[in-house]
Amino acid sequence: MNDYPHLLAPLTVGDLTLRNRVVMGSMHTGLEDYAWDVPKLAAYFAERARGGVGLIVTGGYAPTKRGWLKPFASELSSRLQAERHKQLTGAVHDEGGAIALQVLHAGRYGYTPFSQSASDRKSPITPFTPAAMSTRQVDRTATAFAHTAALAQKAGYDAVEIMGSEGYLINQFLAERTNDRDDQWGGTPTRRMRFPVEVVRRTREAVGDGFPIIYRISLLDLVEDGQTWEEVVELALLVEQAGATVLNTGIGWHEARVPTIITQVPRGAWTWATQRLRKEMGIPVCASNRINTAELADQLIADGTADLVSMARPLLADPDFVNKAAAGRADEINTCIACNQACLDHAFANKRVSCLVNPRACRETELVLLPTKRRSTVAVVGGGPAGLSAATSYAERGFAVTLFEKDAELGGQFRLAMRIPGKEEFAETMRYYARRLEVLGVTVRLGVAATVADLEGFEEVVVSTGVEPRIPEIRGIEHAVSYADVLNGSVTPGRRVAVIGAGGIGVDVAHWLTHTPSRDGEELDDWLAHWGVGDPSAVAGGLTERRPRTPAREVYLVQRKTSMIGKDLGKTSGWAHRAVLRQSGVEQISGASYDLIDEAGLHLTVDGAPLLLEVDDVVVCTGQESVRHLYDELVAAGRTTHLIGGAAVAAELDAKRAIEQGLRLAARA
Ligand code: NAP
Ligand code: SF4
Repeated sequence: MNDYPHLLAPLTVGDLTLRNRVVMGSMHTGLEDYAWDVPKLAAYFAERARGGVGLIVTGGYAPTKRGWLKPFASELSSRLQAERHKQLTGAVHDEGGAIALQVLHAGRYGYTPFSQSASDRKSPITPFTPAAMSTRQVDRTATAFAHTAALAQKAGYDAVEIMGSEGYLINQFLAERTNDRDDQWGGTPTRRMRFPVEVVRRTREAVGDGFPIIYRISLLDLVEDGQTWEEVVELALLVEQAGATVLNTGIGWHEARVPTIITQVPRGAWTWATQRLRKEMGIPVCASNRINTAELADQLIADGTADLVSMARPLLADPDFVNKAAAGRADEINTCIACNQACLDHAFANKRVSCLVNPRACRETELVLLPTKRRSTVAVVGGGPAGLSAATSYAERGFAVTLFEKDAELGGQFRLAMRIPGKEEFAETMRYYARRLEVLGVTVRLGVAATVADLEGFEEVVVSTGVEPRIPEIRGIEHAVSYADVLNGSVTPGRRVAVIGAGGIGVDVAHWLTHTPSRDGEELDDWLAHWGVGDPSAVAGGLTERRPRTPAREVYLVQRKTSMIGKDLGKTSGWAHRAVLRQSGVEQISGASYDLIDEAGLHLTVDGAPLLLEVDDVVVCTGQESVRHLYDELVAAGRTTHLIGGAAVAAELDAKRAIEQGLRLAARA
């Protein structure tokens, strides 16, 4: 018996018996597109299969060129291409796993001038206007889906998933928003459903009985003129009749202006919709989106919300997720913190996907921690993300590691980040590292600001002493407080606050200042109301009027640049942070120069005119300076010393880079 008996129980779908209910959901990694990356993709999948996951779903493969996500993106439409996939399916089967190929036609989300859709309505998130498909082209595209599925079956895949959510072509046929056709593929809800139903019917014909077909259905479109709940249920039943074996569930089109998976979305925020659909269905239903712990996943199966649970990013963060859960070692799982910084932000920037908390993801063949031949002694000074990563990576290789941290707790800047509303998940990374240090036997010396003398006797020293807040030269700066003092609770700001500096931390601090906590047990309802998510039976697409929370304070967010505030935040989360600022009534001032801070408040000049912000407190978020005096002293003393993280470069300080640097340093030691 294990701690998660429902999640880890086998399930038979069609002719396939899965060893457990954990599905690694589809993610485009950037390794799908070129033949030379196939061995890397095989290693990435094999590591997850070895880690015990029940079913892996590949990134999306287009059934036709017109369905590409971008020029020369992944496509499976020929026998030659199918032949290459045998490396992937073989690698997964060798590890006892199962793998499904996802068939995805991008429709108007295709980043190519040749994109096609149900109509010629351009999407708000791509620059290209799609061509409206002719009646014949629609028919041929439905057959192309089936052809790709048959090729996948021949290439050794155990199942296929038909991508019918997130706003791709199938959704574009289903919603009035994007389908204004008057032929047999449009005009009424039932005719708009004909395309996905034909896709599934023809796929079933092509792959025969028993081969599992997963259909990913959009439960809530979260866009105007999306499907109604009655239409979603009707479609689900039609798709089941047409031959689908499993329904996977998706939430929100990519163009939706409601966050669906970033860290501020409460865990399990969408499972109520999955539960509602499952009650109507005869076939297994899979829950997805913001599920990142074995505990929650198990509970969803135990309470009848779903039959399977899809976790995509959590398997990027920890390939051994399932094995650890099964072995009673769930506290050793490297939990996905839903930051999107190295996965989706990379995918949308056309860069290879990885993971902030696991930089080995998608680099399994390149970043390898081999056992060391000699157990030399290593001191790591500073227990922020860079130091934690270095200490655990060196220890994993077999070095004898001592970690020094001047504070009473580990974490550095991460401890401040996890105080921001919606970033509580960052605490999981702290829990992971604390446990990992214990498991690997790293000696941890808290409350010790290591000196050169303390480091005598260590063969190597890694300095990861981090950063300290920059104090800008502004007249009266002594009247201001730093963000660190606010977030760590040393200072409680008043009702009216000005924030100087509008980088990532300024935006986060403005959010912290304006946030009104929900009453216990009402967090999810408040969050859904705040973003305008309504009952899909009452409002099409589940979208209703927003009811933003009343802000806790009146906040001004000020910067010197004239550009838009928050412009440089992450691609997939920046828009949501900017929306939170607007919804919280944060007054944004760009192009300011700072004249004076005094009892009256913050004196600025904006567009040549003086402006006084009469505030109770001024919080400084003007970046950081490296703390590196120890490094300089060690180098002067001729010691073998490495400098990583914010201590090396404070500008663009970021946990993704810090954790990767720690790992890379240990890998080549
Ligand atoms: P930052 O991004 O460098 O922003 C600090 C801002 O302060 C600068 O943009 C600058 O803007 C202003 N500034 C700098 N020196 C100043 C001076 N001497 N006087 C007055 N203003 C000055 O630093 P941060 O906000 O501390 O963020 C640190 C890192 O954490 C960044 O890499 C950031 O991306 C990351 N982070 C990201 C997020 C997120 O994506 N949500 C959240 C938190 C942190 P002006 O000169 O225009 O005023
Ligand atoms: Fe999760 Fe962030 Fe890693 Fe993406 S980069 S998998 S969101 S922890």
